[in-house]
Amino acid sequence: MCKIFCLDIGGSFIKLGVSGADGLAETASISSPSDYDTFLDRLATLLLSEGIGPQDRLGISIAGSIDAENGSVHAAQLPFLASVNLAADLEAAIGTRMGAALKESIRVENDADCFALAEATFGAGRSYENVFAIILGTGVGGAQVYRGDLVRGFGGSAGEWGHGPFIQKQDPSAPGFVPQFACACGQKGCINTVGGARGLEAMHAASGNPLSESKTIIDGWAGGDAACTATVSSYVSLLSDALAITLNITGAQIVPVGGGLSNALILLSAIDSEVQRKVLLPRPTPLVVKGQTGHNGGLWGIYAQLMKEMSAIERNQPRGLRRQSPVASNSGRRRC
Ligand SMILES: [Zn+2]
Repeated sequence: MCKIFCLDIGGSFIKLGVSGADGLAETASISSPSDYDTFLDRLATLLLSEGIGPQDRLGISIAGSIDAENGSVHAAQLPFLASVNLAADLEAAIGTRMGAALKESIRVENDADCFALAEATFGAGRSYENVFAIILGTGVGGAQVYRGDLVRGFGGSAGEWGHGPFIQKQDPSAPGFVPQFACACGQKGCINTVGGARGLEAMHAASGNPLSESKTIIDGWAGGDAACTATVSSYVSLLSDALAITLNITGAQIVPVGGGLSNALILLSAIDSEVQRKVLLPRPTPLVVKGQTGHNGGLWGIYAQLMKEMSAIERNQPRGLRRQSPVASNSGRRRC
């Protein structure tokens, strides 16, 4: 019986999950190395120590954008991945140590895409066919899953609602002034520059307030502080404008939210109310809700993707070659 091995690679930590009778279990967590050779060595050693074999599948969720042309990964906290092909190099490192090549290629997916897959398969979106999941973390991310499939679009860019010149130039002396902050994508005024925790803090400071952490600003707003209320009101207004347009385009039925700001339920509730007021067709139930897969969204998302691929392979095999009693359900159980 083959297993599914899932890695969630972040800037600070790498988590490993391995499939079993009850779905996916997190089996190990290591710190992220700072150079590529050590990175490959630690991953290959970890996977072999957990028993990976040639027949098993391996998937990776990673915080960064993946170049479809050459397999390189642009991850701010792991800059050494920008000039290499992670999947090919890791396959070679595992193959050398194992003495045999993995039968199937390693699948690498962006962490926001994995979060959306996890929520659509196992989390808050599991009862819906059209899910648009967003991350309100350091910045903003997003991805759409329609009938179980990730919507990828041109170059894998679908779902990137956080980028594009959205915030217009404003008079700095006007009430509620929001600057057109420069974004890492090269544009100015992206929702990504204000929608995450750092953006909320930057908006607060731009209004002449002392530098404060996002939690302090949200707590101040909940407690009735005037300056915090002004900042959060602008934040909710901008974010809901962009999200309402996104939902009109995608037709998504639910928006599971991940990232650090998703823990502020009062903030999600305020965003939900504004979005419901702005979308063309208000939904009968809350739209913007906290995700249910939490910190393991990356692991569960890549697991969902690999389960789906394996089910498709199984379906396309001639009848006589299909294995007996495959199990693939929302419980996360899969036999192969
Ligand atoms: Zn941008």
